[in-house]
Amino acid sequence: MRVAVFSSKSYDKQFLNEANKKYVHDLVYFEPHLNSITGKLAADFPAVCVFVNDFLDRQTIKSLSIQGVKLIALRCAGFNNVDLPAAKEFGLTVVRVPAYSPHGVAEHAVTLILALNRRICRAYNRIHDGNFSIDGLLGFELYGKTFGVMGTGKIGFILARIMQGFGCRILAYDVRINPECQALGIEYVSKEKLYAQSDIISLHLPLLKETYHMINPDTLAQMKNGVMLINTSRGGLIDSSCLVEGLKSGKIGYLGLDVYEEEESMFFEDLSGQVIQDDIFARLLSFPNVIITGHQAFFTNTALENIADTTLGNITAFQNNCLSIENIVK
Ligand code: NAD
Repeated sequence: MRVAVFSSKSYDKQFLNEANKKYVHDLVYFEPHLNSITGKLAADFPAVCVFVNDFLDRQTIKSLSIQGVKLIALRCAGFNNVDLPAAKEFGLTVVRVPAYSPHGVAEHAVTLILALNRRICRAYNRIHDGNFSIDGLLGFELYGKTFGVMGTGKIGFILARIMQGFGCRILAYDVRINPECQALGIEYVSKEKLYAQSDIISLHLPLLKETYHMINPDTLAQMKNGVMLINTSRGGLIDSSCLVEGLKSGKIGYLGLDVYEEEESMFFEDLSGQVIQDDIFARLLSFPNVIITGHQAFFTNTALENIADTTLGNITAFQNNCLSIENIVK
């Protein structure tokens, strides 16, 4: 099948081309994000392949449908950037990669937790500057601390298990109880109890209407002073306008973000010669107790192999009318 691959980077081409030796689709790579303007590039393609920051609103989907696109193949798990009712209305099938490496994302969350706690970025810079003072690098022991995991699906469960290994007490919140978590003796509690008792809170929920801005001034106020907040899920879970005040007041003691509400215009691009226009983001970079990575939690060779294989497999299955139910997004 002829596939227009949007937001494509060198690593996408490398892994998709390798996997395509098996599937033999006609892949055409485009660097820009897919949106209502760039959608015209997909003329005569029955399928588009997109990533997290492609923007498939109703207008884009309508124009794709007029051009003959039948399939939207997401090469990621989250689908908050696709207007699903519009896809249904215009008869486009949407497929995704439900799990490609939950371990990679969970391990990145642990990386942020450890680096924030033990001030690794500051320590690294100091040593390179010949400054061997350890003043200001004081950490805490994870052993015995309370770790709150919000969302106990694939990633949240793996992270909870890792943090249990450090000797943390785990509190979990989810709309569904995961029996694997229960088997580990993890305690499910209300959101309020998790906020009130956790020393570290990590978000592993999808971005939905119900979860949008779930971390906001009200919920932040319910948390412990000096809480460590980690978000490797989607930026929109946090109302970023409350982060600066939360950090200045000390309510947030540590902040680790791999995702950011307004990341579309920045992440995955080299903007090192440019002025950052987002004032909140720029201010966040100025705090010594904040680490931001640019949506790289998924970025392991295992994950890229799995993403490429499942994405191209989805396209072949669509062609052969045998899509696996769990890969279809409705
Ligand atoms: P998952 O579907 O396995 O788990 C999500 C959990 O959230 C489920 O247990 C579900 O019951 C729960 N949930 C859904 N709606 C809820 C609500 N309103 N309130 C409480 N709980 C709710 O997903 P996953 O694979 O663990 O991924 C979690 C998130 O991580 C994804 O949604 C995606 O946005 C993000 N992600 C980020 C990266 C990255 O590179 N940073 C990579 C992959 C996934």
